[in-house]
Amino acid sequence: MDDLPPFDTHRVDNQPPPFEPRDLWADDAVLREGVEREGGATFAPRLATYGALAGDELYRLGFDANRDRPRLRTHDRTGRRIDLVEFHPAYHRLMDVAKTHGVAGLSWHEPEPGAHVARAALSYLHHQAEAGTSCPLTMTHAAVPVLQREPGLREWAKKAAAPHYDPRDVPIADKAGITLGMGMTEKQGGSDVRANATTATPRDDGMYALVGHKWFFSAPMCDAFLVLAQASGGLTCFLMPRRLDSGDKNAFRLMRLKDKLGDWANASSEVEFAGARACRVGEEGRGVATIIEMVMLTRLDCMLGSAAEMRMALTQALHHARHRRTFGKPLVEHALMRNVLADLALESEAATAFALRVARAVDAAPHDPQEAAFARIATAAGKYWVCKRAPAFVNEAQECLGGAGYVEESILPRLYRQAPLNSIWEGSGNIQCLDVLRALSREAGTREAVATELASAEGRDAVYDAFVDRLRTDLSSASEAGARMLVERLALALQAAVLLRAGSPAAALFVRSRLGGAHGLAFGTLSDDADVGPLLSRALPA
Ligand SMILES: Cc1cc2nc3c(=O)[nH]c(=O)nc-3n(C[C@H](O)[C@H](O)[C@H](O)COP(=O)(O)OP(=O)(O)OC[C@H]3O[C@@H](n4cnc5c(N)ncnc54)[C@H](O)[C@@H]3O)c2cc1C
Repeated sequence: MDDLPPFDTHRVDNQPPPFEPRDLWADDAVLREGVEREGGATFAPRLATYGALAGDELYRLGFDANRDRPRLRTHDRTGRRIDLVEFHPAYHRLMDVAKTHGVAGLSWHEPEPGAHVARAALSYLHHQAEAGTSCPLTMTHAAVPVLQREPGLREWAKKAAAPHYDPRDVPIADKAGITLGMGMTEKQGGSDVRANATTATPRDDGMYALVGHKWFFSAPMCDAFLVLAQASGGLTCFLMPRRLDSGDKNAFRLMRLKDKLGDWANASSEVEFAGARACRVGEEGRGVATIIEMVMLTRLDCMLGSAAEMRMALTQALHHARHRRTFGKPLVEHALMRNVLADLALESEAATAFALRVARAVDAAPHDPQEAAFARIATAAGKYWVCKRAPAFVNEAQECLGGAGYVEESILPRLYRQAPLNSIWEGSGNIQCLDVLRALSREAGTREAVATELASAEGRDAVYDAFVDRLRTDLSSASEAGARMLVERLALALQAAVLLRAGSPAAALFVRSRLGGAHGLAFGTLSDDADVGPLLSRALPA
Protein backbone atom coordinates (compact mmCIF):
# COMPACT_ATOMS: atom_id res chain seq x y z
CA MET A 1 0.00 0.00 0.00
CA ASP A 2 2.99 2.33 0.57
CA ASP A 3 3.51 2.93 -3.14
CA LEU A 4 0.03 4.50 -3.52
CA PRO A 5 0.10 8.33 -3.59
CA PRO A 6 -1.83 9.92 -0.71
CA PHE A 7 -5.45 11.01 -1.30
CA ASP A 8 -5.71 8.71 -4.32
CA THR A 9 -9.47 8.82 -4.90
CA HIS A 10 -9.37 8.01 -8.62
CA ARG A 11 -7.15 7.29 -11.56
CA VAL A 12 -6.50 10.15 -13.99
CA ASP A 13 -7.21 8.63 -17.34
CA ASN A 14 -8.25 9.55 -20.88
CA GLN A 15 -6.63 12.99 -20.71
CA PRO A 16 -4.45 14.15 -23.62
CA PRO A 17 -0.71 14.56 -22.96
CA PRO A 18 0.64 18.13 -22.71
CA PHE A 19 0.40 20.08 -25.96
CA GLU A 20 3.91 21.54 -25.77
CA PRO A 21 6.76 21.33 -26.57
CA ARG A 22 5.84 21.22 -30.22
CA ASP A 23 7.69 22.37 -33.30
CA LEU A 24 5.32 24.79 -35.02
CA TRP A 25 7.41 24.81 -38.21
CA ALA A 26 8.08 21.08 -38.58
CA ASP A 27 4.43 20.27 -37.78
CA ASP A 28 3.02 22.66 -40.37
CA ALA A 29 3.24 21.28 -43.92
CA VAL A 30 0.99 24.06 -45.22
CA LEU A 31 3.34 26.75 -43.90
CA ARG A 32 6.50 25.03 -45.12
CA GLU A 33 5.09 24.45 -48.60
CA GLY A 34 3.71 27.99 -48.74
CA VAL A 35 7.02 29.60 -47.78
CA GLU A 36 8.80 27.60 -50.47
CA ARG A 37 6.14 28.28 -53.12
CA GLU A 38 6.11 32.02 -52.47
CA GLY A 39 9.88 32.42 -52.59
CA GLY A 40 11.04 32.36 -48.95
CA ALA A 41 12.89 29.00 -49.01
CA THR A 42 16.35 30.45 -48.36
CA PHE A 43 15.14 31.53 -44.92
CA ALA A 44 13.81 28.07 -44.00
CA PRO A 45 16.54 27.19 -41.45
CA ARG A 46 15.73 30.36 -39.50
CA LEU A 47 12.04 29.67 -39.64
CA ALA A 48 12.74 26.19 -38.33
CA THR A 49 14.60 27.69 -35.37
CA TYR A 50 11.74 30.07 -34.64
CA GLY A 51 9.09 27.37 -35.03
CA ALA A 52 10.79 25.27 -32.35
CA LEU A 53 11.02 28.28 -30.02
CA ALA A 54 7.42 29.34 -30.64
CA GLY A 55 6.05 25.91 -29.79
CA ASP A 56 8.04 25.68 -26.59
CA GLU A 57 9.49 28.63 -24.66
CA LEU A 58 7.36 31.35 -26.31
CA TYR A 59 4.21 29.29 -25.96
CA ARG A 60 4.80 28.94 -22.21
CA LEU A 61 5.74 32.62 -21.79
CA GLY A 62 2.46 33.59 -23.46
CA PHE A 63 0.50 32.31 -20.47
CA ASP A 64 2.45 34.49 -18.00
CA ALA A 65 2.39 37.58 -20.22
CA ASN A 66 -1.41 37.37 -20.42
CA ARG A 67 -2.14 36.37 -16.84
CA ASP A 68 -0.27 39.30 -15.32
CA ARG A 69 -1.63 42.24 -17.30
CA PRO A 70 0.30 45.48 -17.98
CA ARG A 71 -0.10 48.22 -15.37
CA LEU A 72 -0.08 51.97 -15.93
CA ARG A 73 2.03 54.10 -13.60
CA THR A 74 1.27 57.75 -14.26
CA HIS A 75 3.35 59.25 -11.41
CA ASP A 76 6.37 58.37 -9.33
CA ARG A 77 6.38 58.49 -5.54
CA THR A 78 7.24 62.20 -5.56
CA GLY A 79 4.23 63.07 -7.69
CA ARG A 80 6.13 63.63 -10.94
CA ARG A 81 4.62 62.28 -14.11
CA ILE A 82 6.36 59.21 -15.50
CA ASP A 83 3.66 57.74 -17.82
CA LEU A 84 5.10 54.24 -17.79
CA VAL A 85 3.53 50.88 -18.38
CA GLU A 86 4.93 47.93 -16.49
CA PHE A 87 4.81 44.49 -18.09
CA HIS A 88 5.46 41.00 -16.80
CA PRO A 89 9.05 39.92 -17.60
CA ALA A 90 7.55 37.30 -19.96
CA TYR A 91 6.34 40.14 -22.21
CA HIS A 92 9.86 41.54 -22.50
CA ARG A 93 11.34 38.12 -23.17
CA LEU A 94 8.75 37.55 -25.94
CA MET A 95 9.59 40.93 -27.46
CA ASP A 96 13.32 40.29 -27.15
CA VAL A 97 13.20 36.90 -28.86
CA ALA A 98 10.87 38.20 -31.60
CA LYS A 99 12.88 41.32 -32.35
CA THR A 100 16.20 39.44 -32.30
CA HIS A 101 14.88 36.86 -34.76
CA GLY A 102 13.52 39.45 -37.18
CA VAL A 103 9.75 39.27 -36.56
CA ALA A 104 9.66 43.08 -36.77
CA GLY A 105 12.54 43.80 -39.10
CA LEU A 106 13.77 40.94 -41.27
CA SER A 107 12.26 42.36 -44.47
CA TRP A 108 14.14 45.64 -44.07
CA HIS A 109 17.26 44.43 -42.28
CA GLU A 110 17.98 41.71 -44.86
CA PRO A 111 16.08 42.85 -47.96
CA GLU A 112 16.72 39.79 -50.12
CA PRO A 113 14.09 38.23 -52.37
CA GLY A 114 11.63 36.32 -50.20
CA ALA A 115 12.36 38.36 -47.06
CA HIS A 116 8.75 39.55 -46.77
CA VAL A 117 7.49 35.99 -47.07
CA ALA A 118 9.95 34.83 -44.42
CA ARG A 119 9.03 37.69 -42.08
CA ALA A 120 5.36 36.88 -42.65
CA ALA A 121 6.09 33.29 -41.61
CA LEU A 122 7.98 34.48 -38.52
CA SER A 123 5.07 36.69 -37.59
CA TYR A 124 2.64 33.78 -38.11
CA LEU A 125 4.72 31.52 -35.86
CA HIS A 126 5.08 34.18 -33.18
CA HIS A 127 1.38 35.05 -33.18
CA GLN A 128 0.49 31.41 -32.53
CA ALA A 129 2.46 31.48 -29.30
CA GLU A 130 1.47 35.00 -28.16
CA ALA A 131 -0.70 37.49 -30.01
CA GLY A 132 -0.46 40.59 -27.78
CA THR A 133 3.19 41.26 -28.57
CA SER A 134 2.35 41.04 -32.28
CA CYS A 135 0.87 44.56 -32.05
CA PRO A 136 4.12 46.49 -31.33
CA LEU A 137 6.03 44.11 -33.61
CA THR A 138 3.79 44.73 -36.61
CA MET A 139 3.63 48.50 -36.02
CA THR A 140 7.43 48.64 -35.82
CA HIS A 141 7.71 46.66 -39.06
CA ALA A 142 5.15 48.74 -40.91
CA ALA A 143 6.62 52.12 -39.99
CA VAL A 144 10.07 51.45 -41.43
CA PRO A 145 9.57 52.18 -45.18
CA VAL A 146 7.91 55.51 -44.45
CA LEU A 147 10.78 56.57 -42.17
CA GLN A 148 13.42 55.30 -44.60
CA ARG A 149 12.29 57.91 -47.11
CA GLU A 150 12.84 60.81 -44.70
CA PRO A 151 16.55 61.72 -44.70
CA GLY A 152 16.34 63.09 -41.15
CA LEU A 153 14.64 59.96 -39.79
CA ARG A 154 16.76 57.16 -41.25
CA GLU A 155 18.35 56.44 -37.87
CA TRP A 156 14.86 55.68 -36.56
CA ALA A 157 14.18 53.36 -39.49
CA LYS A 158 17.51 51.58 -39.02
CA LYS A 159 16.97 50.99 -35.32
CA ALA A 160 13.37 49.89 -35.80
CA ALA A 161 14.52 47.24 -38.30
CA ALA A 162 17.53 46.21 -36.20
CA PRO A 163 17.46 42.81 -34.47
CA HIS A 164 17.65 44.32 -30.99
CA TYR A 165 15.11 44.91 -28.25
CA ASP A 166 15.74 47.45 -25.51
CA PRO A 167 12.78 48.24 -23.23
CA ARG A 168 14.53 51.09 -21.39
CA ASP A 169 12.83 54.48 -21.35
CA VAL A 170 15.85 56.39 -22.71
CA PRO A 171 16.52 58.46 -25.85
CA ILE A 172 17.11 56.43 -29.00
CA ALA A 173 20.73 57.57 -29.22
CA ASP A 174 21.37 55.19 -26.31
CA LYS A 175 19.67 52.23 -27.98
CA ALA A 176 20.63 49.72 -30.69
CA GLY A 177 17.00 48.75 -31.35
CA ILE A 178 13.66 50.50 -30.91
CA THR A 179 9.91 49.88 -31.26
CA LEU A 180 7.27 52.10 -32.86
CA GLY A 181 3.54 52.64 -32.35
CA MET A 182 0.80 54.50 -34.20
CA GLY A 183 -1.85 57.01 -33.17
CA MET A 184 -4.72 57.73 -35.53
CA THR A 185 -7.98 57.03 -33.75
CA GLU A 186 -9.62 59.90 -31.82
CA LYS A 187 -12.86 59.98 -29.84
CA GLN A 188 -14.88 61.59 -32.60
CA GLY A 189 -13.60 59.33 -35.39
CA GLY A 190 -11.49 56.26 -36.07
CA SER A 191 -12.37 54.91 -39.51
CA ASP A 192 -12.75 58.43 -40.80
CA VAL A 193 -9.33 59.77 -39.79
CA ARG A 194 -10.07 63.04 -41.57
CA ALA A 195 -12.11 63.83 -38.44
CA ASN A 196 -8.85 64.03 -36.43
CA ALA A 197 -8.79 67.25 -34.39
CA THR A 198 -5.29 67.09 -32.86
CA THR A 199 -3.37 70.16 -34.05
CA ALA A 200 0.26 70.49 -35.14
CA THR A 201 1.96 73.89 -34.94
CA PRO A 202 5.43 74.51 -36.39
CA ARG A 203 8.15 75.43 -33.87
CA ASP A 204 11.32 77.44 -34.44
CA ASP A 205 13.51 74.33 -34.20
CA GLY A 206 11.87 72.72 -37.25
CA MET A 207 9.72 70.37 -35.16
CA TYR A 208 5.99 70.71 -34.51
CA ALA A 209 4.02 70.93 -31.27
CA LEU A 210 1.05 68.54 -31.02
CA VAL A 211 -2.01 69.41 -28.95
CA GLY A 212 -4.94 67.05 -28.64
CA HIS A 213 -5.49 63.37 -27.89
CA LYS A 214 -5.76 59.80 -29.21
CA TRP A 215 -8.55 57.53 -28.02
CA PHE A 216 -6.72 54.30 -28.80
CA PHE A 217 -2.94 54.25 -28.53
CA SER A 218 -1.50 50.76 -28.24
CA ALA A 219 1.92 49.71 -26.98
CA PRO A 220 2.48 53.12 -25.32
CA MET A 221 5.99 52.14 -24.17
CA CYS A 222 7.24 52.31 -27.74
CA ASP A 223 10.16 54.68 -28.40
CA ALA A 224 8.16 56.77 -30.86
CA PHE A 225 4.77 56.91 -32.54
CA LEU A 226 3.54 57.81 -35.98
CA VAL A 227 0.71 60.20 -35.26
CA LEU A 228 -1.80 62.02 -37.47
CA ALA A 229 -2.54 65.66 -36.72
CA GLN A 230 -3.92 68.72 -38.49
CA ALA A 231 -1.23 71.11 -39.70
CA SER A 232 -2.03 74.28 -41.65
CA GLY A 233 -1.66 72.28 -44.90
CA GLY A 234 -4.10 69.59 -43.73
CA LEU A 235 -3.90 66.17 -42.08
CA THR A 236 -0.21 65.25 -41.72
CA CYS A 237 1.84 62.37 -40.36
CA PHE A 238 4.38 62.98 -37.56
CA LEU A 239 6.97 60.98 -35.68
CA MET A 240 6.52 61.73 -31.99
CA PRO A 241 9.35 60.40 -29.77
CA ARG A 242 8.78 59.27 -26.19
CA ARG A 243 12.06 60.84 -25.03
CA LEU A 244 13.60 63.93 -26.59
CA ASP A 245 17.29 64.01 -27.56
CA SER A 246 17.92 65.97 -24.36
CA GLY A 247 16.64 62.98 -22.38
CA ASP A 248 13.53 64.87 -21.27
CA LYS A 249 10.16 63.15 -21.41
CA ASN A 250 8.08 64.38 -24.34
CA ALA A 251 4.86 66.23 -23.45
CA PHE A 252 2.28 63.46 -23.70
CA ARG A 253 0.31 61.84 -20.90
CA LEU A 254 -1.07 58.33 -20.69
CA MET A 255 -4.54 58.85 -19.22
CA ARG A 256 -5.62 55.24 -18.69
CA LEU A 257 -5.32 51.75 -20.15
CA LYS A 258 -8.26 50.26 -22.01
CA ASP A 259 -10.00 47.41 -20.19
CA LYS A 260 -10.10 45.10 -23.20
CA LEU A 261 -11.97 41.91 -24.04
CA GLY A 262 -8.64 40.23 -24.81
CA ASP A 263 -5.19 41.10 -26.14
CA TRP A 264 -4.15 41.23 -22.50
CA ALA A 265 -0.38 41.05 -22.88
CA ASN A 266 -0.51 44.24 -24.93
CA ALA A 267 -1.32 47.60 -23.35
CA SER A 268 -3.68 49.94 -25.21
CA SER A 269 -3.99 53.42 -23.77
CA GLU A 270 -5.73 56.76 -24.07
CA VAL A 271 -3.28 59.61 -24.45
CA GLU A 272 -3.21 63.39 -24.40
CA PHE A 273 -0.66 65.58 -26.17
CA ALA A 274 0.21 68.81 -24.38
CA GLY A 275 2.54 70.41 -26.89
CA ALA A 276 4.38 67.14 -27.59
CA ARG A 277 7.26 67.63 -30.02
CA ALA A 278 7.14 65.74 -33.29
CA CYS A 279 8.93 65.60 -36.66
CA ARG A 280 6.92 65.83 -39.84
CA VAL A 281 6.87 62.67 -41.99
CA GLY A 282 5.99 63.47 -45.62
CA GLU A 283 4.38 66.63 -46.89
CA GLU A 284 1.76 68.58 -44.94
CA GLY A 285 -1.67 67.41 -46.04
CA ARG A 286 -0.36 63.97 -47.15
CA GLY A 287 -1.05 62.28 -43.82
CA VAL A 288 -3.63 59.81 -45.06
CA ALA A 289 -1.45 58.69 -47.98
CA THR A 290 1.54 58.23 -45.65
CA ILE A 291 -0.40 56.29 -43.06
CA ILE A 292 -2.10 54.10 -45.72
CA GLU A 293 1.30 52.83 -46.82
CA MET A 294 1.91 51.61 -43.27
CA VAL A 295 -1.57 50.32 -42.77
CA MET A 296 -1.23 48.10 -45.85
CA LEU A 297 1.48 46.21 -43.98
CA THR A 298 -0.32 46.05 -40.65
CA ARG A 299 -3.42 44.79 -42.46
CA LEU A 300 -1.41 41.94 -43.95
CA ASP A 301 -0.30 41.14 -40.41
CA CYS A 302 -3.94 41.12 -39.26
CA MET A 303 -4.61 38.51 -41.94
CA LEU A 304 -1.52 36.52 -40.94
CA GLY A 305 -2.47 36.85 -37.27
CA SER A 306 -5.97 35.53 -37.81
CA ALA A 307 -4.56 32.68 -39.92
CA ALA A 308 -2.15 31.97 -37.06
CA GLU A 309 -4.95 31.95 -34.49
CA MET A 310 -6.85 29.47 -36.65
CA ARG A 311 -3.77 27.30 -37.05
CA MET A 312 -3.12 27.19 -33.30
CA ALA A 313 -6.79 26.44 -32.58
CA LEU A 314 -6.81 23.67 -35.20
CA THR A 315 -3.63 22.11 -33.82
CA GLN A 316 -5.09 22.12 -30.32
CA ALA A 317 -8.30 20.51 -31.56
CA LEU A 318 -6.45 17.80 -33.49
CA HIS A 319 -4.13 17.07 -30.59
CA HIS A 320 -7.07 16.68 -28.25
CA ALA A 321 -9.18 14.62 -30.65
CA ARG A 322 -6.36 12.16 -31.27
CA HIS A 323 -5.89 11.43 -27.59
CA ARG A 324 -9.37 11.74 -26.12
CA ARG A 325 -11.64 8.69 -26.34
CA THR A 326 -15.42 8.84 -26.23
CA PHE A 327 -17.90 6.04 -26.76
CA GLY A 328 -15.11 3.49 -27.11
CA LYS A 329 -12.76 5.16 -29.62
CA PRO A 330 -10.64 8.28 -30.13
CA LEU A 331 -12.65 11.38 -31.00
CA VAL A 332 -10.73 11.67 -34.24
CA GLU A 333 -12.24 8.38 -35.42
CA HIS A 334 -15.86 9.54 -35.08
CA ALA A 335 -17.20 10.43 -38.53
CA LEU A 336 -18.91 13.65 -37.47
CA MET A 337 -15.86 14.90 -35.55
CA ARG A 338 -13.73 14.09 -38.61
CA ASN A 339 -16.00 16.28 -40.68
CA VAL A 340 -15.57 19.19 -38.23
CA LEU A 341 -11.79 18.81 -38.00
CA ALA A 342 -11.31 18.44 -41.76
CA ASP A 343 -13.49 21.47 -42.41
CA LEU A 344 -11.36 23.51 -39.99
CA ALA A 345 -8.20 22.18 -41.65
CA LEU A 346 -9.51 23.34 -45.05
CA GLU A 347 -10.28 26.81 -43.73
CA SER A 348 -6.92 27.09 -41.99
CA GLU A 349 -4.95 25.97 -45.03
CA ALA A 350 -6.75 28.42 -47.30
CA ALA A 351 -6.15 31.31 -44.86
CA THR A 352 -2.43 30.55 -44.48
CA ALA A 353 -1.77 29.94 -48.18
CA PHE A 354 -3.59 33.14 -49.15
CA ALA A 355 -1.75 35.27 -46.58
CA LEU A 356 1.62 33.98 -47.80
CA ARG A 357 0.61 34.67 -51.41
CA VAL A 358 -0.10 38.29 -50.44
CA ALA A 359 3.29 38.45 -48.67
CA ARG A 360 4.93 37.42 -51.95
CA ALA A 361 3.11 40.26 -53.70
CA VAL A 362 4.49 42.69 -51.08
CA ASP A 363 7.96 41.27 -51.74
CA ALA A 364 7.66 41.77 -55.49
CA ALA A 365 5.79 45.11 -55.35
CA PRO A 366 8.82 47.46 -55.60
CA HIS A 367 9.80 46.09 -59.04
CA ASP A 368 6.53 44.61 -60.34
CA PRO A 369 3.54 46.98 -60.73
CA GLN A 370 1.09 44.12 -61.24
CA GLU A 371 2.12 42.47 -57.98
CA ALA A 372 1.92 45.88 -56.27
CA ALA A 373 -1.65 46.25 -57.52
CA PHE A 374 -2.44 42.70 -56.43
CA ALA A 375 -1.03 43.34 -52.93
CA ARG A 376 -3.16 46.48 -52.71
CA ILE A 377 -6.49 44.76 -53.35
CA ALA A 378 -5.76 41.29 -51.96
CA THR A 379 -4.66 42.78 -48.62
CA ALA A 380 -8.04 44.48 -48.16
CA ALA A 381 -10.05 41.46 -49.35
CA GLY A 382 -7.95 39.06 -47.27
CA LYS A 383 -8.01 41.28 -44.17
CA TYR A 384 -11.80 41.33 -44.39
CA TRP A 385 -12.38 37.65 -45.00
CA VAL A 386 -9.65 35.83 -43.06
CA CYS A 387 -10.17 38.02 -39.97
CA LYS A 388 -13.93 37.59 -40.23
CA ARG A 389 -13.59 33.79 -40.17
CA ALA A 390 -11.36 33.60 -37.09
CA PRO A 391 -13.88 34.01 -34.22
CA ALA A 392 -16.27 31.32 -35.48
CA PHE A 393 -13.34 29.06 -36.29
CA VAL A 394 -11.75 29.41 -32.86
CA ASN A 395 -15.08 28.74 -31.18
CA GLU A 396 -15.54 25.56 -33.23
CA ALA A 397 -12.03 24.36 -32.34
CA GLN A 398 -12.74 25.20 -28.70
CA GLU A 399 -15.82 23.00 -28.83
CA CYS A 400 -13.69 20.08 -30.06
CA LEU A 401 -12.01 20.12 -26.63
CA GLY A 402 -15.35 20.07 -24.84
CA GLY A 403 -15.24 21.71 -21.39
CA ALA A 404 -11.44 21.84 -21.42
CA GLY A 405 -11.62 24.32 -24.30
CA TYR A 406 -13.45 26.79 -22.05
CA VAL A 407 -10.80 26.66 -19.33
CA GLU A 408 -7.82 29.00 -19.22
CA GLU A 409 -5.29 26.17 -18.80
CA SER A 410 -5.77 25.54 -22.50
CA ILE A 411 -4.88 28.43 -24.80
CA LEU A 412 -8.37 28.36 -26.37
CA PRO A 413 -10.08 30.98 -24.14
CA ARG A 414 -7.21 33.39 -24.86
CA LEU A 415 -7.45 32.73 -28.58
CA TYR A 416 -11.20 33.21 -28.42
CA ARG A 417 -10.84 36.64 -26.79
CA GLN A 418 -8.17 37.63 -29.28
CA ALA A 419 -9.98 36.42 -32.39
CA PRO A 420 -12.38 39.37 -32.99
CA LEU A 421 -9.68 42.01 -32.73
CA ASN A 422 -8.04 41.68 -36.13
CA SER A 423 -11.31 42.39 -37.89
CA ILE A 424 -11.87 45.56 -35.81
CA TRP A 425 -8.55 47.43 -35.78
CA GLU A 426 -6.57 48.65 -38.76
CA GLY A 427 -9.84 49.34 -40.56
CA SER A 428 -12.93 47.33 -39.59
CA GLY A 429 -14.73 44.94 -41.94
CA ASN A 430 -16.90 47.43 -43.82
CA ILE A 431 -13.94 49.74 -44.31
CA GLN A 432 -12.00 46.90 -45.98
CA CYS A 433 -14.91 46.11 -48.28
CA LEU A 434 -15.29 49.77 -49.26
CA ASP A 435 -11.54 49.86 -49.84
CA VAL A 436 -11.83 46.94 -52.28
CA LEU A 437 -14.50 48.87 -54.20
CA ARG A 438 -12.31 51.98 -54.21
CA ALA A 439 -9.31 50.02 -55.49
CA LEU A 440 -11.40 48.37 -58.23
CA SER A 441 -12.91 51.60 -59.45
CA ARG A 442 -10.10 54.11 -58.98
CA GLU A 443 -6.69 52.47 -58.75
CA ALA A 444 -4.75 51.59 -61.85
CA GLY A 445 -4.06 47.94 -62.46
CA THR A 446 -6.04 46.36 -59.59
CA ARG A 447 -8.75 44.97 -61.87
CA GLU A 448 -6.14 43.48 -64.23
CA ALA A 449 -4.11 42.09 -61.31
CA VAL A 450 -7.16 40.30 -59.92
CA ALA A 451 -8.12 39.02 -63.38
CA THR A 452 -4.63 37.61 -63.96
CA GLU A 453 -4.57 35.92 -60.57
CA LEU A 454 -7.98 34.32 -61.04
CA ALA A 455 -7.17 33.22 -64.61
CA SER A 456 -3.94 31.59 -63.49
CA ALA A 457 -5.91 28.80 -61.81
CA GLU A 458 -8.51 28.25 -64.52
CA GLY A 459 -8.85 24.94 -66.35
CA ARG A 460 -8.21 22.83 -63.25
CA ASP A 461 -11.68 22.60 -61.72
CA ALA A 462 -15.01 23.19 -63.48
CA VAL A 463 -16.69 24.50 -60.31
CA TYR A 464 -13.93 27.09 -59.87
CA ASP A 465 -14.14 28.11 -63.54
CA ALA A 466 -17.91 28.67 -63.36
CA PHE A 467 -17.60 30.62 -60.07
CA VAL A 468 -14.90 32.87 -61.51
CA ASP A 469 -16.96 33.51 -64.66
CA ARG A 470 -19.83 34.87 -62.57
CA LEU A 471 -17.48 36.79 -60.29
CA ARG A 472 -15.85 38.54 -63.26
CA THR A 473 -19.21 39.94 -64.33
CA ASP A 474 -20.12 40.99 -60.79
CA LEU A 475 -16.78 42.75 -60.22
CA SER A 476 -17.67 45.21 -62.93
CA SER A 477 -21.00 46.19 -61.36
CA ALA A 478 -20.09 46.45 -57.66
CA SER A 479 -22.41 48.40 -55.36
CA GLU A 480 -21.73 49.75 -51.87
CA ALA A 481 -24.57 47.79 -50.26
CA GLY A 482 -23.37 44.59 -51.94
CA ALA A 483 -19.71 45.08 -51.05
CA ARG A 484 -19.49 42.40 -48.34
CA MET A 485 -21.00 39.74 -50.60
CA LEU A 486 -18.67 40.66 -53.43
CA VAL A 487 -15.52 40.77 -51.29
CA GLU A 488 -16.38 37.46 -49.64
CA ARG A 489 -16.67 35.83 -53.07
CA LEU A 490 -13.50 37.52 -54.29
CA ALA A 491 -11.56 36.31 -51.25
CA LEU A 492 -12.90 32.76 -51.62
CA ALA A 493 -11.92 32.71 -55.29
CA LEU A 494 -8.42 34.04 -54.50
CA GLN A 495 -8.00 31.41 -51.78
CA ALA A 496 -9.15 28.70 -54.18
CA ALA A 497 -6.76 29.97 -56.87
CA VAL A 498 -3.76 29.62 -54.54
CA LEU A 499 -4.76 26.11 -53.49
CA LEU A 500 -5.47 24.95 -57.06
CA ARG A 501 -2.22 26.34 -58.45
CA ALA A 502 -0.30 24.75 -55.59
CA GLY A 503 -1.91 21.37 -56.30
CA SER A 504 -2.91 21.20 -52.64
CA PRO A 505 -4.79 18.06 -51.52
CA ALA A 506 -7.29 20.51 -49.95
CA ALA A 507 -8.07 22.30 -53.22
CA ALA A 508 -10.90 20.18 -54.66
CA LEU A 509 -12.81 19.99 -51.39
CA PHE A 510 -12.29 23.69 -50.69
CA VAL A 511 -13.71 24.56 -54.12
CA ARG A 512 -16.64 22.15 -53.80
CA SER A 513 -17.59 23.33 -50.31
CA ARG A 514 -16.83 27.08 -50.46
CA LEU A 515 -17.45 27.86 -54.13
CA GLY A 516 -19.78 25.05 -55.17
CA GLY A 517 -22.33 25.35 -52.36
CA ALA A 518 -21.74 21.87 -50.87
CA HIS A 519 -21.49 23.30 -47.36
CA GLY A 520 -23.78 24.61 -44.60
CA LEU A 521 -23.44 27.74 -42.49
CA ALA A 522 -21.52 26.00 -39.67
CA PHE A 523 -18.18 24.19 -39.78
CA GLY A 524 -18.45 20.41 -40.01
CA THR A 525 -20.89 20.47 -42.90
CA LEU A 526 -18.73 19.00 -45.67
CA SER A 527 -20.52 16.40 -47.82
CA ASP A 528 -20.67 13.05 -46.09
CA ASP A 529 -18.75 11.41 -48.95
CA ALA A 530 -15.79 13.80 -48.61
CA ASP A 531 -12.45 12.01 -48.31
CA VAL A 532 -11.19 13.74 -45.18
CA GLY A 533 -8.46 11.27 -44.10
CA PRO A 534 -5.60 12.82 -46.13
CA LEU A 535 -6.53 16.30 -44.92
CA LEU A 536 -6.42 15.25 -41.28
CA SER A 537 -3.02 13.56 -41.65
CA ARG A 538 -1.65 16.59 -43.50
CA ALA A 539 -2.89 19.04 -40.86
CA LEU A 540 -0.78 17.60 -38.03
CA PRO A 541 1.75 14.76 -38.06
CA ALA A 542 0.79 11.87 -35.78
C1 LIG B 1 -7.55 46.86 -28.71
C2 LIG B 1 -7.50 48.00 -29.67
C3 LIG B 1 -6.30 48.64 -29.87
C4 LIG B 1 -6.23 49.71 -30.77
N1 LIG B 1 -5.04 50.34 -30.95
C5 LIG B 1 -4.98 51.43 -31.77
C6 LIG B 1 -3.76 52.15 -31.95
O1 LIG B 1 -2.72 51.80 -31.42
N2 LIG B 1 -3.76 53.24 -32.74
C7 LIG B 1 -4.89 53.66 -33.37
O2 LIG B 1 -4.85 54.66 -34.08
N3 LIG B 1 -6.06 53.00 -33.23
C8 LIG B 1 -6.12 51.88 -32.46
N4 LIG B 1 -7.31 51.21 -32.31
C9 LIG B 1 -8.52 51.78 -32.88
C10 LIG B 1 -9.07 51.05 -34.08
O3 LIG B 1 -8.19 51.11 -35.17
C11 LIG B 1 -10.44 51.66 -34.36
O4 LIG B 1 -11.27 51.33 -33.26
C12 LIG B 1 -11.05 51.20 -35.65
O5 LIG B 1 -10.29 51.67 -36.74
C13 LIG B 1 -12.51 51.66 -35.81
O6 LIG B 1 -12.64 53.01 -35.53
P1 LIG B 1 -13.77 53.51 -34.49
O7 LIG B 1 -13.61 52.73 -33.24
O8 LIG B 1 -13.70 54.97 -34.40
O9 LIG B 1 -15.15 53.07 -35.14
P2 LIG B 1 -16.00 53.88 -36.23
O10 LIG B 1 -15.10 54.54 -37.19
O11 LIG B 1 -17.01 54.69 -35.54
O12 LIG B 1 -16.71 52.66 -36.97
C14 LIG B 1 -17.71 51.85 -36.32
C15 LIG B 1 -18.18 50.79 -37.31
O13 LIG B 1 -18.77 51.44 -38.42
C16 LIG B 1 -18.22 50.94 -39.62
N5 LIG B 1 -18.18 52.03 -40.59
C17 LIG B 1 -17.51 53.20 -40.51
N6 LIG B 1 -17.72 53.94 -41.60
C18 LIG B 1 -18.55 53.23 -42.41
C19 LIG B 1 -19.12 53.45 -43.71
N7 LIG B 1 -18.84 54.54 -44.42
N8 LIG B 1 -19.93 52.50 -44.21
C20 LIG B 1 -20.18 51.38 -43.53
N9 LIG B 1 -19.68 51.11 -42.32
C21 LIG B 1 -18.85 52.02 -41.76
C22 LIG B 1 -16.84 50.44 -39.27
O14 LIG B 1 -16.44 49.40 -40.16
C23 LIG B 1 -17.07 49.90 -37.85
O15 LIG B 1 -17.54 48.59 -37.92
C24 LIG B 1 -7.39 50.12 -31.45
C25 LIG B 1 -8.60 49.45 -31.24
C26 LIG B 1 -8.65 48.40 -30.37
C27 LIG B 1 -9.96 47.70 -30.16
